[in-house]
Parts: sequence; C-alpha cells; structure tokens
Amino acid sequence: MPTYIGMPSFPVAARTAVADSQLRRNLTHATHTIRAKRAAAVAELPDWEQLRAAAKAIKDHTLANLDTYLLRLEASVTRAGGHVHWAQDAAEANAIVAGLVRAAGADRVVKVKSMATQETGLNEALAADGIHALETDLAELIVQLGHDRPSHILVPAIHKNRAEIREIFRHQMPGAPAGLTDNPAALAAAARAHLRHAFLSATVGVSGANFAIAETGSVVVVESEGNGRMCVTLPQTLISVVGIEKILPSWRDLEVFLALLPRSSTAERMNPYTSTWTGVTPGDGPQDFHLVLLDNGRTTALADHTGRQALRCIRCSACLNVCPVYERAGGHAYGSPYPGPIGAIISPLLRGVTSPVDASLPYASTLCGACYDVCPVAINIPEALVYLRGRVVDAKREKTFSPERAVFQLSGRVLRSPRLLATAQRAASLSGRLVARSGRIRRLPPPLRAWTETRDAPAPPPESFRAWWARTRGTRR
Ligand code: SF4
Repeated sequence: MPTYIGMPSFPVAARTAVADSQLRRNLTHATHTIRAKRAAAVAELPDWEQLRAAAKAIKDHTLANLDTYLLRLEASVTRAGGHVHWAQDAAEANAIVAGLVRAAGADRVVKVKSMATQETGLNEALAADGIHALETDLAELIVQLGHDRPSHILVPAIHKNRAEIREIFRHQMPGAPAGLTDNPAALAAAARAHLRHAFLSATVGVSGANFAIAETGSVVVVESEGNGRMCVTLPQTLISVVGIEKILPSWRDLEVFLALLPRSSTAERMNPYTSTWTGVTPGDGPQDFHLVLLDNGRTTALADHTGRQALRCIRCSACLNVCPVYERAGGHAYGSPYPGPIGAIISPLLRGVTSPVDASLPYASTLCGACYDVCPVAINIPEALVYLRGRVVDAKREKTFSPERAVFQLSGRVLRSPRLLATAQRAASLSGRLVARSGRIRRLPPPLRAWTETRDAPAPPPESFRAWWARTRGTRR
C-alpha cells in the first residue's frame, strides 16, 4: 500500500489524534449517529441472523473454491466482450491501469470510490505517469481537494465537519461559488457543478467493485450519490480494479448481500444506486471494458487458516462505527486505507507483521467483541486479533536473541545426531557427577541457572541407557 509506507506505529499516530478535540467531536458525533441508525435498520429484519449465516456460508464456499470461480469469471467476462488482467501486486495493477489509460489516448480519468485502488496507491501512480485521476464520490473529493487521506471506509471525510469542508471547497475547488455556506445542500450543489463537466468530457472511467459475479461476468457497484453510475456508463473505456475475494458464484448469492450491505453501512433498506455491467453492449455504455483482478497479498491471507475469514469482508464499515478505539483514534492512525477493526486484521494479513505499523495494529483493540456482533459476514475479528498478536510475538522472537531458543536449537541438533547425543550424554554424566550433591544438582551454570533458582535438577546417571545396552548386549553405540 504505497501511500502509507513509512507510517508510524498505531500508538504513536493515535496519540496525536486523541489530542485533537475537534477530531474527537467529529468522530463521536458521526459514529454514534450511524451506529444508532444501523441498529434500527437491522432490527427491522427478523431473519437478520439467518441472512448473516447465509452470507458467511456463501463467502466461505467461494473462498474455498476461489480458483474455480476466478477462472469462471474470466471466461464469462471474456465471452461478454471484456478483457481480464491479472495483477499480482499493487505495482502490477497500477502499471496495467496506466497502460490502458495511455492506450485510450487519455491523460485524465474519472473515478468511482474504490478501496482496491486506494490500496494500490493508483492515484499517485497515475500522477507519476502524467495522468490525473479525479475522485467523484463527494467524500473522496473532499479528501482529494484537501490533500488529505481517507479516515473511514464508507465516509472517507468523517473527520471533517461542515465548516472545514466549506473551507476546503473555497480554497481548493476551481469555480467554487463566492459566498459558499456550510449548508449541506449548498456544499453538494457546488461539488455537483464541479464534477458535471468532468463526467461529460471523460473518456476513461476507473472503478472498483463491491461484487463480481462468476456465472455471467457481471460487475456490481453499490453507492448513494449516482456519481458511480456516471463513471461506469459515460466514458468510452471502463477499467475496474477488483480484489479477487470480491467474487460471488451467482446472482442468487448477490441477493443475500444486497440485503445485508446497505443496512450495515448506511442504514438504508436498499442503496440508492446499484450499477451492474456485463462486458460490452454495442451502442450502450463503455465500448471497451477491462477487469483487473488484484491479488496483492490476498492469496497469502487465504492460506492462513485463521486469517482467511477476513476475506469475507464486504467493506460495510459497521465494525468501525461501533469500535471504541476507532471512535477515539480516527482512521489515519491505522496507517492503511483499511481503518478500524477490519483494518487491524486485514492490513497485517495482506502486508505481514514486520513493519512497526503492521506489528502494532493487532493491539489496536480492547477485544470487546462489538465488531464481531455487528459484522454482517460474521468475521470473528477478536479471534483474528489474538491470533495476529501471536504472529507479531513470534516474528519479534525470531529477530532477538533468546537463551531459551538457543538451548532448544542446540538440543535439536544434538537429538538429530546419534554420535552427538552419545558425546553429550557422556559429557553430561561426567559434569553432572562433578556438580551434583546427593544425586541432585542445586545450581546450574548460566544460561541454565534460572531453572535451578526455584528447583533443583536430578544428576545425570553415570551411564546412559544406550551405553548400558551397548555394554550388556555387545551392540555398537
Ligand atoms: S469486517 Fe464485517 S463489519 Fe467490518 S467492514 Fe468488513 S464486513 Fe463490515
């Protein structure tokens, strides 16, 4: 995740955030409002738990058969007139997108809000290639104009209040109306006017996807503003960058997720815009469609028996809104486009646990379990956090000298070699007899001294079993 390389560890970054009282007020107000609305929307459905169990089962089945469904998706997209590209990592995905934009003769693209392209740092990579990427989601636009970073999966500008947004628009948005107020309708109208020309003149659109359906090769984006619909229908070329875990086997499966996602994220019964597209339709919408399937650590996470459940995530952000740690620290402290409880597990799973920020993320939780309770795909985030803490400890242990580990490594070598074992037994027997009193050793030399600080050790026998066997049966040692 190039944008976030070199970020400080979570405690260091969170200290700054927690000291910002305005930020805390903004976050508390926003998370409490969304939290209450979500609870009411979920309570309307008597079969919520059954839906949740169905979503978990569908995702688990798909992940267990990911190779089959990915190939099916590729065949379906190709049959429908689209092109499929496979990207092993962020750099490869960005290079594919930049090449496609250049091939279309464009130097700017309009973008739908996309976590996958934040993960790859696509905007920065395109900028380095002389291509401007314009974010069209209102909150993403605020973040982009403010030269900021997103701090929430669903509401990237959650850390900004209306007055702060008005200042960003006034100073950074070309053509912002004079006398712009902080009235939400006025701010939305200013953004709409700013984006309208870009939508109508763009020749390339870039999107992510909430789901990709293997049986037909269809790609699905759900959103609230209609900007996504503009981006995926108006340009001639459409490039969708999609994590390989976003796949669903069939339209029947999508039904379950379209019931769960809006209520979990925006507390809506259904989301205002659900855009789906399948390859290319002559004379209707983009005539050149490219699907970039992104791995970037996902197959490593899939191979992890405890961590793979994180790949069920549908990025609803319900876990962020109930997390007491996120509410106080905000999203920037997580050093990743994925903040909150899901970020605390998905970032170390995708990137490993060796950097300071990734090693600190599994500890960015009270383990209260609220995230697990609200998760629509039943990801046991506390279980994954505890497991990842274990991986962090193991990784640190490997880097530092430990007398205990040195003793066990040496023991392993000796026990694997009959000759070394016989030599060690003779040496132990001889030295044991020198230091033992009444058949017990009261104090061992360092580094074994800790063992005898609270107990004594039996003296080694004068002759080992192997030596006795060889002596009495006449066999070779
Ligand atoms: S972990 Fe669950 S609650 Fe959190 S964003 Fe993902 S799906 Fe939503």
